[in-house]
Amino acid sequence: MLIRIAIDGPSGAGKSTIARALANEFGITYADTGAMYRAVALYALRNSIDPKDDEGVRNALGNIKVDVSIVDGVQCVFLNGENVTALIRKEKISKAASDVSAIPEVRNHLLILQKHIAERGSVVMDGRDIATNIMPDAEVKLFLTASVGDRALRRYNELVERGEPLSYDEILADMKLRDANDSQRAVSPLRQAEDAIKIDTTGNSLKKTLEIVSETVRRALKQ
Ligand code: C5P
Repeated sequence: MLIRIAIDGPSGAGKSTIARALANEFGITYADTGAMYRAVALYALRNSIDPKDDEGVRNALGNIKVDVSIVDGVQCVFLNGENVTALIRKEKISKAASDVSAIPEVRNHLLILQKHIAERGSVVMDGRDIATNIMPDAEVKLFLTASVGDRALRRYNELVERGEPLSYDEILADMKLRDANDSQRAVSPLRQAEDAIKIDTTGNSLKKTLEIVSETVRRALKQ
């Protein structure tokens, strides 16, 4: 049975944790499309290209090859052959990824890879435009969200754990900025697909959210 699950939603809604858990539960591949935008952002920052400079980023695209592959069961992202999976998680990269993702040519550059993964078989893919653009015919479409305060707090706890100290207020401001960028950009903005199921995780523990999502997916697959 072909199982393609599309998960969209704003930053910090827990998409990747949920997607990973679903991939394990159903024994299917997990594809993290945000990681691909992050790899492009890393290239820009490393090469002193302003992520907001459309022309600069566009001109560099010919030199940017992004790939993903599974290493020991985990999706790894490669930038021109280098495994950059760990390097792209920094907060600086989050902001830059949001900037480069508004450039239409960057989206087209990554769309080919994303569509290719979607065509290979069962997959849970998360991002901002998966149900609306990349996998509009997915068997299950989820829109995962939570209040901006909750999302900022989760991100804050994650960064504290990783030893990357930033104040809660800074993270909240970043989160609001990324929300605005992602939902207001001209190309493939973040929005809920008409036939996507919305799950609001505000105030839920991860365990509770996982239960709700798993049950929702099972029910959707039966229909
Ligand atoms: O999901 P993640 O936070 O890793 O994504 C980083 C950035 O990449 C997001 O803020 C968003 O701007 C962009 N993105 C996107 N479309 C996707 C996935 C991510 O525009 N499908």
